[in-house]
Amino acid sequence: MAIEDEYIITIGLEVHCELKTNTKLFCGCANQFGSEPNTNICPVCLGLPGSLPVINERAVEYAIRIGSALSCEIRPSVFHRKNYFYPDMPKDYQVSQYDEPICVNGKLELPSFSKTVRIERAHMEEDTGKTTHVGTSGRIHGADFSLVDYNRAGIPLVEIVSAPDLSSADEAREYVSELRAILVSTKASDGKMEEGSLRVDANVSVRPLGTEKLGTRCEIKNLNSLRSLGRAINYEARRQMEALSAGQSIRQETRHWNEDQGVTSALRSKEEAYDYRYFPEPDLTPLDPDMDEVATIARALGILPPARRLRLRELLDGELTRSELEQVQTCVKFDLDEHVLDAVRAGVPARLALARGSNELASYVNQASVDSFEVAEFPRGKFIEVISLESQGKVSSTQAKTLLSRIASNHNEEVSALIEELGYKAASQDEISELLERLISENSMEWERLCAGENQLAGFFIGKAMKITNGKVNGKTLASEMAARRLG
Ligand code: ZN
Ligand code: MN
Repeated sequence: MAIEDEYIITIGLEVHCELKTNTKLFCGCANQFGSEPNTNICPVCLGLPGSLPVINERAVEYAIRIGSALSCEIRPSVFHRKNYFYPDMPKDYQVSQYDEPICVNGKLELPSFSKTVRIERAHMEEDTGKTTHVGTSGRIHGADFSLVDYNRAGIPLVEIVSAPDLSSADEAREYVSELRAILVSTKASDGKMEEGSLRVDANVSVRPLGTEKLGTRCEIKNLNSLRSLGRAINYEARRQMEALSAGQSIRQETRHWNEDQGVTSALRSKEEAYDYRYFPEPDLTPLDPDMDEVATIARALGILPPARRLRLRELLDGELTRSELEQVQTCVKFDLDEHVLDAVRAGVPARLALARGSNELASYVNQASVDSFEVAEFPRGKFIEVISLESQGKVSSTQAKTLLSRIASNHNEEVSALIEELGYKAASQDEISELLERLISENSMEWERLCAGENQLAGFFIGKAMKITNGKVNGKTLASEMAARRLG
């Protein structure tokens, strides 16, 4: 029996999501990525003596949106100080929420696994600054010196903590994809991994098959792509299985994932809550959201992924096949559902729109989402233009796919210019008349026989026309032109 078959894997995920507010959580500094270091700072986010925090109302609203989208209960909550020393945190404590978080008891559905993952809590906290360790190691050990940028210190975060309900790397990846889609739908976050808007920590443990008690877990910090998430979980689970099989025990610790070497390594022994000396933040009053306002915020939520999938399913009548269901999921996962809906509104048959969206477009945007949690975009207007031409028979399906792939590699390409360049331009009515004229004079015998009723000779002329024009002539148009000539 393979070692993987002797153990059960248990995974819980903690996802930090940056909120897309204009300003920071407790001061008026800009919440902006990519500014010059240490320009979006003030006495409050630097924790200078005498400064006082003021809560950002919009950040609270966004946290409520996220909690509502995850079917959480929204509760009165209290900010705590989480005390620890690290140079990226100028206050030496992080303002977070501890035993009274704003959102509790939510859930998230994994569409491909027909599984519901419980969300234990989603709480608000402030982000830390950013350190850059200068030197060949790139890490604090062996650095020549370190630079610190406090622009990120104080940016509002929501940390979403799942129950340990996931049991494979694939489930974990789908959880993060679905969560990202939900966060983007709420417009509370942009879900951009590259800019650090979404960061994942994975708690992984294994236990022997047939036992109930969860094994000792290790936490892998700061996984920054779906690929790393999957690889790190598989590596870590395997490491724990091998240790247990060899009679060793697992130490509860925080581990670092090394993408290049494909291994996790011990970072520090796991802190317990008491290490942080949590106490209520004395400079902030508890949050007590008005329940009518909470209801208003929940009602105003945009359409969420489960409803977005349903909306696509309803485009097709009758029972959907398994592959159609997968197409629907793929389109929503990669934010392509609006592309499909708009194409259908523009008169494209739903099955064609769904197929091109989930196959061609998804394959172009997929790579980006594996490398980061981000989803690339595809120009919607150009997608509709191409598949409208395809559905009208003005370009063939092979030509349509080539057009889409050219646009995927350069969003600025114009469909009409590409059609010209690739020679996909369908012949005009005048060109068709001229062409037919030429064909008749070159093949007058065949034309007479066709006019005398040998209808199968129509194919002979269409074949000739295709050959001369390299397939650019529309066969149907030529056929009707010939019919008109014979009658006239
Ligand atoms: Zn500030
Ligand atoms: Mn946190």
